Amino acid sequence: MGDCLFCGIAKGGIPADVVYSDERVMAFRDINPQAPVHILVIPRAHYDSLDAMSDAQLLSDMLQTAARLAREMGIAESGYRVVMNCNADGGQTVQHIHAHLLGGRAMAWPPG
Ligand code: AMP
Ligand code: ZN
Repeated sequence: MGDCLFCGIAKGGIPADVVYSDERVMAFRDINPQAPVHILVIPRAHYDSLDAMSDAQLLSDMLQTAARLAREMGIAESGYRVVMNCNADGGQTVQHIHAHLLGGRAMAWPPG
């Protein structure tokens, strides 16, 4: 996936404010934050979207990373939201699966 933005971040060629990294997943701050804490959790491996995701363990790793980061950033008790936008109607703009971790303020429901 030569021109994928998040593959570029995962491989280190594109800079990001990385808050967590291991051999399978990475987390970095969203460039256009929608909450005081807004972090994106991605797998290093490329999957276009949740619809294309075939590795259940990797999906679990992403969610566990989001939950652990929420605890580390002090928003677990107050609460937070984890969002995956999928394809056009879901509002997905970067076609490399990612989970948004949003917190530090109260979230509205329903989402827009
Ligand atoms: P989505 O709309 O769900 O596909 O989310 C993509 C997210 O990636 C948006 O919230 C963007 O602000 C964010 N984003 C785009 N480019 C970058 C970048 N270079 N570094 C960090 N976040 C980015
Ligand atoms: Zn990618």
